[in-house]
Amino acid sequence: MLNIVIFGAPGSGKGTQSDKIIAEYGVAHISTGDALRNEIKKETELGKTAKGYIEKGQLVPDELVVGILASVLDSLGKSVPGVIFDGFPRDIEQAKILDKMLAERGEKVSTVIGLEVDDAELVKRIILRGQTSGRSDDNEETARKRLETYHAQTQPLREFYIRQGKYARIEGVGSIDRIYSDIKAAIEAVK
Ligand code: AMP
Repeated sequence: MLNIVIFGAPGSGKGTQSDKIIAEYGVAHISTGDALRNEIKKETELGKTAKGYIEKGQLVPDELVVGILASVLDSLGKSVPGVIFDGFPRDIEQAKILDKMLAERGEKVSTVIGLEVDDAELVKRIILRGQTSGRSDDNEETARKRLETYHAQTQPLREFYIRQGKYARIEGVGSIDRIYSDIKAAIEAVK
């Protein structure tokens, strides 16, 4: 199976490029952010707890996110050709959990697509997205906190995957199609 991790800061284009990868490769999409927003919408206990963290731009505790991930992974039919992990892992601990969950299913991470975009551009994009996304965390103040969280907790994962030879660096500024063609080349290299 093709197990793709799409990696990058908030606003780096993970959702947009995931849609293109899914359209071409037919892989299943697992977005922990979408799954958490769905819990908030349904007003579940988990959603209520997660909301506080999301609105502060902080990571939701692992035990909540990992439970969601496991249930989505187990709900996938056997016929899916692969999975795209969007927004997970967010720190080294989660990366180790993902490796373990995949190993238990006889799988491993195939490649990590790293979308690289500078902070000034990220803040601009998140504020712009906030005009239509309806997401309560797409405002300038929370965007800056999310970027701090990204640099402190998530970015170290880049080195983690570089050391494993799994990190495909993608220049994340430019046209959507050019960025996608670089992503496609990286996927084809591991297929
Ligand atoms: P996203 O849609 O991926 O930008 O995620 C939105 C928010 O959901 C993040 O700022 C976190 O608060 C939370 N979140 C999403 N995925 C994770 C994760 N893997 N671990 C912890 N928190 C997460």
